Amino acid sequence: MSQDFISTQLLVAGQWQDAADGRTLPVFNPATGEEIGKIAHASKADLARVADGAAQGFAAWRALTAWDRFVIMRKAANLLRERAESIGRIMSREQGKPLEQAIIEINGAAGVIEYFGEEGRRLNDTLIPPRVPNVEQRVLHRPVGVVAAFTPWNFPINQIARKLGAALAAGCAVIVKAPEDTPASPAELLRAFCDAGVPAGAVSLVYGDPAEISEYLIAHPVVRKISFTGSTPVGKHLAALAGAQMKPVTMELGGHAPVIVCEDADLDAAAQRLCAAKFRNAGQVCIAPTRFLLHKSIASSFVDKFKAQMNALKIGSGLDAGVTMGPVVNERRLKALNELVADAREKGATIWQADVPLPNEGCFFAPTLVLNPTLAMRMMQEEPFGPIAIVSEFTSLTDAVQEANRLPYGLAAYAYTRNERTERLLGEQVEAGMIAINHHGLGVPEVPFGGIKDSGYGTEGGPEAVRAHTLIKFVSAEHE
Ligand code: NAD
Repeated sequence: MSQDFISTQLLVAGQWQDAADGRTLPVFNPATGEEIGKIAHASKADLARVADGAAQGFAAWRALTAWDRFVIMRKAANLLRERAESIGRIMSREQGKPLEQAIIEINGAAGVIEYFGEEGRRLNDTLIPPRVPNVEQRVLHRPVGVVAAFTPWNFPINQIARKLGAALAAGCAVIVKAPEDTPASPAELLRAFCDAGVPAGAVSLVYGDPAEISEYLIAHPVVRKISFTGSTPVGKHLAALAGAQMKPVTMELGGHAPVIVCEDADLDAAAQRLCAAKFRNAGQVCIAPTRFLLHKSIASSFVDKFKAQMNALKIGSGLDAGVTMGPVVNERRLKALNELVADAREKGATIWQADVPLPNEGCFFAPTLVLNPTLAMRMMQEEPFGPIAIVSEFTSLTDAVQEANRLPYGLAAYAYTRNERTERLLGEQVEAGMIAINHHGLGVPEVPFGGIKDSGYGTEGGPEAVRAHTLIKFVSAEHE
């Protein structure tokens, strides 16, 4: 067994430990297929202890001042920064992304945690002027309680950092169910919080059977809020479970982002920026541009430029120097992508793949352009969640907006135009939680991050994300 083999444990009431029944799951490197580690698989007995520990952790964490919580969160953020390279290597091995992108993610997560720590200091109570003398009307924002957070494998650390950061800032404790495909880098995130001095149980970490864990935790009386990032069907299922318990949820679900490239766009900038955004993390990004809607007059010119950018990608193991796109996360995703492309080909699409060498082993999928799609193709309805760009043409902006809004998803949308009027119109009319025009500036911690329609509800950025982890109490007191 390689000395790089990583055994990831559960974090229960402040202690790192194996599952009570000793059960484990294997972890694989998607670039090689090699088994690189194992994780502890929580049983219900473990989950019961996690919930008890979280109840105690919540009591201890909420008792700290907002300033003390901020100091601990800032320390955790700084520890992450110090450890970014070593944690990045772990992430790259288990998830596949290039090391440079892993390090960017980890430093980004540190920024998210620091921002939310600061935001927690501004969670002010308010006084409302009374209608009668001698009455004081106070509005209190208090932590909602223990939060159960379920996160996916595409950004193993950043997805957790958003949930942890906002919840901890509000004074909540968090039980994280991290992704089984990519478990060891999230464990390092939690370790940074432990090393920074969070009270035992304020943060907990479990892995196992996602459905069993979510059913158990959502129903558990200690858990008072649910936060999920993942696919829309799973999100709807978890929201229904939470609804039956009258527990609030934040849902960050799938997308199928349109990008409208207008006739007046800067095509060089659009091709270069869209290529980077499309193939980052092998396209496994909920806000990745997917449906490329090109004005007829510039379509072929844009496609030529975009293909040239795609041909410059370097595919390989994320740990190899110069690699810009790694494998997809597992065999399941590889199979799903192959099926989507086969379906499009059968139904008449033209498939173009970048002229770049792919490694012989591992879960690699070539950067792919799908031309001449029709609505009968599955990928025009389902989120591909991989390195696939689907290209259509339009002649009127009204038609482009209609196509952009056709799907039940509404997470991110993009446009390239030099016309300020068009830019404003698209900002108003495109149905998406986030719209970026002429660049891809989504996801900084201080701005809203979230979707509408089937892409979920709630936001994971800005002060609203902290407020979403509070309950509002109104206290009205008459004094002598
Ligand atoms: P999936 O729906 O099976 O899993 C997505 C995530 O949800 C995983 O982390 C999984 O562990 C978790 N999950 C699944 N069932 C669960 C349950 N009953 N309770 C709690 N957690 C549960 O999908 P997948 O095959 O891993 O990924 C494919 C799809 O997931 C993509 O097409 C994409 O739509 C979506 N996805 C979205 C994001 C995002 O950032 N919004 C991230 C990853 C995956």
